[in-house]
Amino acid sequence: MSKEVVLSGIRPTGFLHLGNYFGAMRNYVRMQDDYNCYFFVANWHSLTTHPDTKELKTAVCRVVAENIACGVDTNKAVFYVQSDVPEIAELYLYLNMLAYKGELEKTTTFKDKVRTQPNNVNAGLLTYPVLQAADILIHRAVKVPVGKDQEQNMEMARNFAQRFNHRYGNVFPEPSGFNYGEQLVKIMSLDGNGKMSKSENQLATLYLADDDDAIRKKIMKAKTDEGPSESNSQKPDYIENLFTLMNLVSAADTVKKFDDDFNNSSKGNCEIRYGNFKKQLAEDMVAFIKPIREKAADLQSNEDMLNKIIKEGADKARASASETIKLVRKAVLG
Ligand code: ATP
Ligand code: MG
Repeated sequence: MSKEVVLSGIRPTGFLHLGNYFGAMRNYVRMQDDYNCYFFVANWHSLTTHPDTKELKTAVCRVVAENIACGVDTNKAVFYVQSDVPEIAELYLYLNMLAYKGELEKTTTFKDKVRTQPNNVNAGLLTYPVLQAADILIHRAVKVPVGKDQEQNMEMARNFAQRFNHRYGNVFPEPSGFNYGEQLVKIMSLDGNGKMSKSENQLATLYLADDDDAIRKKIMKAKTDEGPSESNSQKPDYIENLFTLMNLVSAADTVKKFDDDFNNSSKGNCEIRYGNFKKQLAEDMVAFIKPIREKAADLQSNEDMLNKIIKEGADKARASASETIKLVRKAVLG
């Protein structure tokens, strides 16, 4: 039986962070043995919010290096740069004719960007979900490892696939967001405001390129409170987020200890010491990020190797994309 096709992308809009790792890259590494994986650097998508391209090529190389440093193996997964696959742009054109202004204007990501960049509400921003659908459908992918922020866009990709199939005949399977039997993940920023992000909330986001001191400082400044007022109470979301991070980087018995301390705490009897909790998290986080940071830095200095990886990825991605675009042209144009 042929393996299911997986697709996911990351924009080269800055340094990768723990949200990218936890929402996306961790699954890339887990999925690459069992699925037919396509992962890409979404450099066209970055133009919707980052029109200045002076740093773009460097950022593309950094995303490639950081993915490899996190364990993506380009002998197992196809890893490519979006703009190397022009078939995606052609599919985007066909899908744009099936996407309606009203539904695009209603998407949360679009409304957010209208708020954050009122002077650059470009058509690319509006049709972002259409390009994203083209990214997925060009390989006829069914599983898309993404974070929770992409849930709505995933639904739109399914709608576009259905609409296409309905009008022109069955070409596309329906894709959905994926995270190993669990909910999609959202890592909040350390100040509790919004998600960790490459382009926003930078002082409260933990980057895979942060040095040890920056990691410690950011974690020690993370939002906490005076502790729970009853035993076994529900954790506020910013505390839950710190536990989520600890689950990612600390030993299971360490997490259990602090979790027990939290549950045994009540007003006037606070067993969890947030200072100690954050210190422990900071040290475990340093141990987790340091090898990734060092490996990524190493890889980035090897430009020839990165270019070779990018070229090989482009060839493999185009082979798959050109098969799909042939089917699409035949279905639409006859
Ligand atoms: P930008 O701010 O430039 O949009 P970003 O951090 O949102 O950057 P993207 O390139 O848009 O990163 O997304 C790459 C992947 O990382 C997507 O799968 C997205 O769902 C996931 N992701 C991004 N931020 C988080 C987060 N805080 N928690 C979980 N997953 C996330
Ligand atoms: Mg984003």
